[in-house]
Amino acid sequence: MIPPAQDYASSRASFLDLVRVAGSVVESHLHPEQGPAGEELACDVARFGAPPGDAATVVLISSGLHGVEGHAGWGLQRLLVESGRLATLAPSVAVVLVHAVNPFGFAWSRRVDHDNIDVNRNFVDVDHLPANPRYAEVDSALNPTADQFDPDDLSFLAELQELVDLAGMLEAFRVISGGQYSHPQGVQFGGQHESWSRRTLERIWADHLPGAVRAVALDIHTGLGPTGRLTVFQTANEDEPAAELGRSWFPDYLYRADRDEEQATDTGLMGPGFDSWVAASEDLVADTAAFVIEFGTHDPIQGVSALTRVGVSFTEGQKASIKAMQEHGNIAGAQKLILAELNKEFGGSAEAFGRTWPGILEKAGASTTMKKLLSTPNQVAGTSLCSIMNSRPSIQKHRPQRPAKATASDRLASQTLPPVLR
Ligand SMILES: [Zn+2]
Repeated sequence: MIPPAQDYASSRASFLDLVRVAGSVVESHLHPEQGPAGEELACDVARFGAPPGDAATVVLISSGLHGVEGHAGWGLQRLLVESGRLATLAPSVAVVLVHAVNPFGFAWSRRVDHDNIDVNRNFVDVDHLPANPRYAEVDSALNPTADQFDPDDLSFLAELQELVDLAGMLEAFRVISGGQYSHPQGVQFGGQHESWSRRTLERIWADHLPGAVRAVALDIHTGLGPTGRLTVFQTANEDEPAAELGRSWFPDYLYRADRDEEQATDTGLMGPGFDSWVAASEDLVADTAAFVIEFGTHDPIQGVSALTRVGVSFTEGQKASIKAMQEHGNIAGAQKLILAELNKEFGGSAEAFGRTWPGILEKAGASTTMKKLLSTPNQVAGTSLCSIMNSRPSIQKHRPQRPAKATASDRLASQTLPPVLR
């Protein structure tokens, strides 16, 4: 097991040491801002295997697009280098490690960048920004001003519930979480210009993809999916070669969404941005396949602590049961118990947030993949009380995000790797 780096600066220093010792040339894209200790911020890139022009397959493995999630990404990158796999690649394969796509967020323990942009909502046409008009209705609930902010006041949940009742859960999910481009201080702000991280990634793609016939992007995140387990997300239509690749590479971990299905919930994701950037490039003819590698960190025990802080009480017996269920891998059972307690204290609102998901999705006509994805217990938790509360920037201001404790084991590393690298 590899523990998360102490902080961005030590993660960066060991990345640079490690890849140089392993014989890679490093290029650094310097960021205009500084870290909390005045340290330099940069996105660092190390290439292994065939040089540009000679690699038919290029695999980009990136960490820290959502800044604070860079700890797990770095853990995986380190495992890869230390395993020696990168020294014995097939002659026509190159692996490009991208450390800290959003170094500002990594250093300051934030998901977003220095402009409050969620980089994974930023891959849009900035001259025609997507509209999310209903976001204005919930902005003040999600994002109270400092003098309005009261960590004990849960009345914002009623406002969100109203949106769910009016618009349905799928639309509410999109409004709250799918990206908005009108409120620069709000949550899930996708930016009104191309972010530093997006421009840097596009520069890296331009430098490293020439000559490739297959370009694969593996972008490492933490959060979604069963706690401590791997889940792989992909946006591609069923008949695309990329979908076939996903099915054969990650048969047990893949959730694929059709392109229009994804657009119904999320805008500006990096994966589809990668596909269209390569397709629009005059010099490149590569097939692309982009995957988001998620290590699940939704932790019922942490949920219990978070709820206890805002006044929901659990008996010692309940806490012990939740802990025991979690230890035995019964995450769904643990979450059910938490929801039951919330139902008691908040009268049906928790039920509306959690248990009625499958029914609502059925009514919304969600496809089987989407239903499977959104009905996973952890995904239910992902849009339930704790997660919505954690996504409130004001709360984050008062309580800095903690780096996920997700550690990458060698087993996870092998599951993550496409066969071309195993
Ligand atoms: Zn993420």
